[in-house]
Amino acid sequence: MLLIGCHLSPTDGYLAMAKTALSLGANTCQFFTRNPRGSKAKPLDTADTAAFNAFCREQAIGTVVAHAPYTINPCSADEHTREFARMTLADDLYRLSHLTDCLYNFHPGSHVGQGVETGITLIADTLNEILTPDTVTTVLLETMAGKGSEVGGTFEELREILDRVTLTEKLGVCLDTCHVSDAGYDIAADPDAVLTEFDRIIGLGRLRAVHVNDSMNPVGARKDRHARIGEGYLGLEGFRRIVNHPALEGLPMVLETPNDLPGYAAEIALLKKMRSV
Ligand code: FE
Ligand code: FE
Ligand code: ZN
Repeated sequence: MLLIGCHLSPTDGYLAMAKTALSLGANTCQFFTRNPRGSKAKPLDTADTAAFNAFCREQAIGTVVAHAPYTINPCSADEHTREFARMTLADDLYRLSHLTDCLYNFHPGSHVGQGVETGITLIADTLNEILTPDTVTTVLLETMAGKGSEVGGTFEELREILDRVTLTEKLGVCLDTCHVSDAGYDIAADPDAVLTEFDRIIGLGRLRAVHVNDSMNPVGARKDRHARIGEGYLGLEGFRRIVNHPALEGLPMVLETPNDLPGYAAEIALLKKMRSV
C-alpha cells in the first residue's frame, strides 16, 4: 500500500487539515507543529485533535508526520538557543501525544563551527533531556543535505546520535530524497544501494518516514533546494524506482515540493500512478 501525502497547514485545525489531505487524494500528510519561523504554538484544542483522530480512523488516513520548526537548533553554541530547542521539542511532544498515529520529525541541527563531534554530543544531550519513558510519539531525525555545518548529512552521523540516546527506542529516521541525493547518496539511480547502505549503518528498522522531493541540484551538491517530482535531477524514473522499492513499503511518503494544493494533488496522482505500474 502506498501512503502518500504532502505538507499541509493546520491553521484551521487538524480536522480541516485531514479533510484537505483527503480531497487531494492523500492518505497521510505532514504539518508544522507551529509557525516554522516563529515560536508561538496555538493553544491545544483537544476537541479538534479527537475529531482528527476519529476522522483519520474512519477515512483510512495512515500515520501522519509532524515537523518541528526549522529555526530550532539543538546543537547551537549558545545555551539560550539550545534551551529554546529543548522547550519547543518538549512542548511539541506533549501536544502531539494527543494525536493517535503521528511521528515527530526534526532537523538535527547545525554545529556552527563547533565541529561534528560537539554537534552530535549536544543533539544527543538534548534528546536525553526531553525523552521520557512516557514519550508516546516516535521522534525522527531527518537525513540532511549537509549544507553549511548541518549535522546528519551522513548515515554515520545519524547512527552516532541514535547510539548516544538512552531511550533510543523512541527514535527513528526520516529519509528526505532531495537531502540524501544532495548529500552524495544517489538514491534516484540506485535506491537499492543507498538503502542497503542505510541498513548497514543505521538499520532499516529505524526508517519510519520518507520526504519525497526532487532536487534542483545534482548528487553531492549540498544545496537543499527542493524541486517538484520529475522537474529536478532525481527525475521521474528515479521516483518510479523509489516508490516501488520494497524497503519503503508502507512508510508515509510526504511531498515537500514547491507547490500549491492543486499541484500537490497532481503530484500525488502521479506517484500513485507510478506505483501501480
Ligand atoms: Fe525537514
Ligand atoms: Fe525534508
Ligand atoms: Zn530540505
